[in-house]
Amino acid sequence: MSSVSPIQIPSRLPLLLTHEGVLLPGSTMRTSVDTARNLQLVRGRLLKGTSLQSTILGVIPNTPDPASDAQDLPPLHRIGTAALAVQVVGSNWPKPHYTLLITGLCRFQIVQVLKEKPYPVAEVEQLDRLEEFPNTCKTGEGLELSEQFYKYAVQLVEMLDMSVPAVAKLRRLLDSLPREALPDILTSIIRTSNKEKLQILDAVSLEERFKMTIPLLVRQIEGLKLLQKTRKHKQDDDKRVIAIRPIRRLTHIPGTLEDEDEDEDNDDIVMLEKKIRTSSMPEQAHKVCVKEIKRLKKMPQSMPEYALTRNYLELMVELPWNKSTTDRLDIRAARILLDNDHYAMEKLKKRVLEYLAVRQLKNNLKGPILCFVGPPGVGKTSVGRSVAKTLGREFHRIALGGVCDQSDIRGHRRTYVGSMPGRIINGLKTAGVNNPVFLLDEVDKLGKSLQGDPAAALLEVLDPEQNHNFTDHYLNVAFDLSQVLFIATANTTATIPPALLDRMEIIQVPGYTQEEKIEIAHRHLIPKQLEQHGLTPQQVQIPQVATLDIITRYTREAGVRSLDRKLGAICRAVAVKVAEGQHKEAKLDHSDVTEGEGCREHVLEDPKAESIGDATDLALPPEMPILIDFHALKDILGPPMYEMEVSERLSQPGVAIGLAWTPLGGEIMFVEASRMDGEGQLTLTGQLGDVMKESAHLAISWLRSNAKKYHLTNASGSFDLLDNTDIHLHFPAGAVTKDGPSAGVTIVTCLASLFSGRLVRSDVAMTGEITLRGLVLPVGGIKDKVLAAHRAGLKTVIVPQRNEKDLEEIPGNVRQDLRFVTASCLDEVLNAAFDGGFTVKTRPGLLNSKL
Ligand code: ADP
Repeated sequence: MSSVSPIQIPSRLPLLLTHEGVLLPGSTMRTSVDTARNLQLVRGRLLKGTSLQSTILGVIPNTPDPASDAQDLPPLHRIGTAALAVQVVGSNWPKPHYTLLITGLCRFQIVQVLKEKPYPVAEVEQLDRLEEFPNTCKTGEGLELSEQFYKYAVQLVEMLDMSVPAVAKLRRLLDSLPREALPDILTSIIRTSNKEKLQILDAVSLEERFKMTIPLLVRQIEGLKLLQKTRKHKQDDDKRVIAIRPIRRLTHIPGTLEDEDEDEDNDDIVMLEKKIRTSSMPEQAHKVCVKEIKRLKKMPQSMPEYALTRNYLELMVELPWNKSTTDRLDIRAARILLDNDHYAMEKLKKRVLEYLAVRQLKNNLKGPILCFVGPPGVGKTSVGRSVAKTLGREFHRIALGGVCDQSDIRGHRRTYVGSMPGRIINGLKTAGVNNPVFLLDEVDKLGKSLQGDPAAALLEVLDPEQNHNFTDHYLNVAFDLSQVLFIATANTTATIPPALLDRMEIIQVPGYTQEEKIEIAHRHLIPKQLEQHGLTPQQVQIPQVATLDIITRYTREAGVRSLDRKLGAICRAVAVKVAEGQHKEAKLDHSDVTEGEGCREHVLEDPKAESIGDATDLALPPEMPILIDFHALKDILGPPMYEMEVSERLSQPGVAIGLAWTPLGGEIMFVEASRMDGEGQLTLTGQLGDVMKESAHLAISWLRSNAKKYHLTNASGSFDLLDNTDIHLHFPAGAVTKDGPSAGVTIVTCLASLFSGRLVRSDVAMTGEITLRGLVLPVGGIKDKVLAAHRAGLKTVIVPQRNEKDLEEIPGNVRQDLRFVTASCLDEVLNAAFDGGFTVKTRPGLLNSKL
């Protein structure tokens, strides 16, 4: 116990005024904090730092004086106990308060109160200097008193049931602790009133303290004798109860002298205890549970820690320590299931099947963790779910986006306010088995903060060498994660912490083409949406042209997530119409058949009535499907969001379309340039990285050195393009940070357009890095970029020659729609980007001048 080691307390202590008990050195007490002063102290001193251990408090027993104004500091008891707060539990109900668990270190006396607000701080003098004590009680009366005291203490403890671990411990403590520490400790254990405790606290001299405690011990011994006598006649099985009771009372906070019967709440605890006994948890966990339930039994229910401990124990018994599903793995069935659930994504499906096949043969899980990397909405999560389904395992998704505290993964220690287990343990509880498939979603979005690096915690979770005894801080016992199958997803590998990336096998999942999206919509998304909205294909028909319209004019994405959302919006709107229709139909029930048929004919003849925006079709019999056409789309989804943008924006010189790669897939990117009078400054705007800025400088330098060749002039007709001229380059969509070298060719084209006054072809997009000498170097992400150009309805794509091999990856139908120009130098790029080429020969005026 801390009071035995020589302690040096600071000369100034913040004061905690307790009004419900007296803390003695060497003992531990729970105290509730609800006065303004104490609340301020807890917030200001205990909850600020990272560790509770560093703050020593001066605990002053204080009998509240009802007459005193809460604003003024009441008269303070002069002697107090310096203490450490070992635990802080907070609650806001019924009003803000904390419960502190404090351990007394030594006595002190107040020399002078230094400040009163927001909580009192005093200059203090340490009273107990434990190293001095042994001398005083090694001789004479001191020794005698100490011997006598010890004898009674042993007698008292031996009257208790030694089979109770706490009693056995107490017995050992009597021998192992220095004698001088015993009066304080025993006084706080046996039944004493606050007044008696205060007397002991005030007994600064050790001899006096022994003298005063002995009668208290004797009284307790007599009390116990009496108690045992009255219960003697009881049955044998009561023995344990008798034995526990005294110790329970002993540890009780005095003042509640009449021990109320706690049998009712014991029922739940008995159940919990039974569950612990029958649970299949490993031995270590079992031990902890047994210990905790013993503690729980001794706690009054009203104590905040009661609920805390109980929640802990409930989690412990609920966790699937030994519960697992049996894997069923049939590769053929898995292939069928994956194919049924997912259209296209052949590469991913192939790799997943290989992974499963290896698992089947090797029958273990060691090996890299699969990580699906691709834009949102391309089916990464959905494939993960299918893997679980093929294996017959439970599936649980753990979202890691924005997680920046390692306790999110590994839990909070139970000493902290609002502590709880981390997401892994929580996931296991939800899954209910110890071998689920865990999808670690968005590992690329893990953050970092002062609270520790969550990636490091995740590494431990994923490492097969370590994860068989993963220890959550809250649980504080190891849980075996080795049976869990982890799959990760990410939008990009660039931001995955390298150590984590090292453990994973990356499988790229590219975006979809328009055709693939249409197929996915009709095979998977629409049927799913219909079902979710309680509709049937007889009630609504979405033709492929409508789907294509949604894909091209209402969404611009690599995956199918917005598409799915738009389809959901359509189904909702249709569901309302259908419900209204049924309602009307019910009203029409009495009308005769001819009338109904007439109505139907009318609808069929009226082309506009196909649209659900038209009220006339509301009375359709259910077998007439609502057809989603262009009008209906406009009614439900509003006017198209992406239309004509491209040609409109390219209607003046100084604009070109580049292709960019982002974690969300490929994107088309406009580059705009304008020039104005100035001093040769280059301004760049639109959230650019350093590499992009360099590309812009390279582009200008190359154009300046080739100005004569292409006959490019500034406003005053000079070949020195920057003479009296400022250039402003802008990359719209400022919310997206853009970097990378691949915009080089686009910037050159855009500036060439600006200085030549010619328009860039509106159906051309381009990508490629440039050098100062005008060479075009290869870049990454060709497939995603080409798909983006295709989505935007462009017809020609200029790519670096050395990227030609990447074009093979592009689906046939997309390749058919596009014309590819492979360029090895900027001349070739410019020739392809302008109608009729860009070489000198195409400018008759220049030709003449040359001649
Ligand atoms: P991600 O995890 O990549 O962001 P999701 O798995 O959440 O994407 O996919 C979004 C939706 O699109 C899901 O409903 C999913 O079933 C569907 N989906 C995506 N790709 C396909 C596909 N190839 N075949 C069928 N459905 C797909």
